[in-house]
Amino acid sequence: MEMIKNNIKNLKEYKINKKPYRIKLDANEGKDIFLKDISKEIIRGLEKIDINLYPDTDSFLLRVEIGKYLNINPDNIVTGNGSSEMIELIMKTFIDKDDIVLSFVPTFSMYSIFTQIYSGRFIGINSNEDFSIDIDILIEKTKEINPKVIFICNPNNPTGSLVKKHEVERLLNNVNCIVVVDEAYMEFAEGSMVEDIYKYKNLIVLRTLSKALGLAAIRLGYMISNVDIVNVINRVRAPYNLNAISQYMGIEALKNKERIFKYVEEVKRERKYLYEKLTELSLELWESNTNFIFFKSDIDELDKKLEEDGILIRAFSKELRGCYRVTVGNRWENHEFVKSLKEILKNEKS
Ligand code: PMP
Repeated sequence: MEMIKNNIKNLKEYKINKKPYRIKLDANEGKDIFLKDISKEIIRGLEKIDINLYPDTDSFLLRVEIGKYLNINPDNIVTGNGSSEMIELIMKTFIDKDDIVLSFVPTFSMYSIFTQIYSGRFIGINSNEDFSIDIDILIEKTKEINPKVIFICNPNNPTGSLVKKHEVERLLNNVNCIVVVDEAYMEFAEGSMVEDIYKYKNLIVLRTLSKALGLAAIRLGYMISNVDIVNVINRVRAPYNLNAISQYMGIEALKNKERIFKYVEEVKRERKYLYEKLTELSLELWESNTNFIFFKSDIDELDKKLEEDGILIRAFSKELRGCYRVTVGNRWENHEFVKSLKEILKNEKS
């Protein structure tokens, strides 16, 4: 196609594994805690939606509920179609041609993809060998190359590593550009920056209902920031960007804080179980602050071998060849995954 923008000529489509499966541990999705336990009321409530009318353009009631969930003023929140839309909105709002977006790598690929689409330049600083992040290097690099936006995925996808809150604060105290802290997995860790949005003029925090709330299908994410940033983002945001069904489901789900916390505790318990089992198999693995575990294996195409047993995990390529990311499942799923892995290891040896 001749007519497309230059900067997207070599852009590849974000491919999703659509193989049939019996256990899906490849996309860090949560479990359907609402549909199983309390969904009957939610589904009944859907009938009340005026489906012929446009939804509330700024999701007011949803923002009130998010505000209660995080103890934040609704005026400091913007909602949208997954935190993916929030990442794109940040690029649309702040990135002019050739502006620099700085992050560390490996990290969530959409930061660099959206940077490219909006004609910016993505620069990724390598993490330390253990995938920890050196904030001093990030500060130094910021002074050197003057980025417009810094993205910190915290905890990080795909490695599961966490930057401590005082380190993020140190970054914020030493740079002037926009600092986005993507907290998609923060419910599974500690050290959120949400309460700090009032303190900094340049801090944006991203959250999602796709992970700890197990609602990936309704595509609901949000941003928390000071009112000046919220106002400018709202000027760029498309009207009615979040549909009425997602707004309604989000409101009902967020009312069940206790259920969410209980699920998060379940995931943390299962994460410990899975970590111990994988350690027993002498795999190289990294401590996780999320709902997934990142590990390395020298078994060739381990993901394809697991796929034959109906189990999906995520494999990485290039510099991360041989690395895998497995979502923490329920006890049965984790058990089946470990069993299958053991079998593969046994076959490799014989
Ligand atoms: N940020 C991170 C770090 C993620 O891992 C993901 C999903 N994989 C997202 C954002 C996007 O999530 P969603 O669009 O479902 O809110």
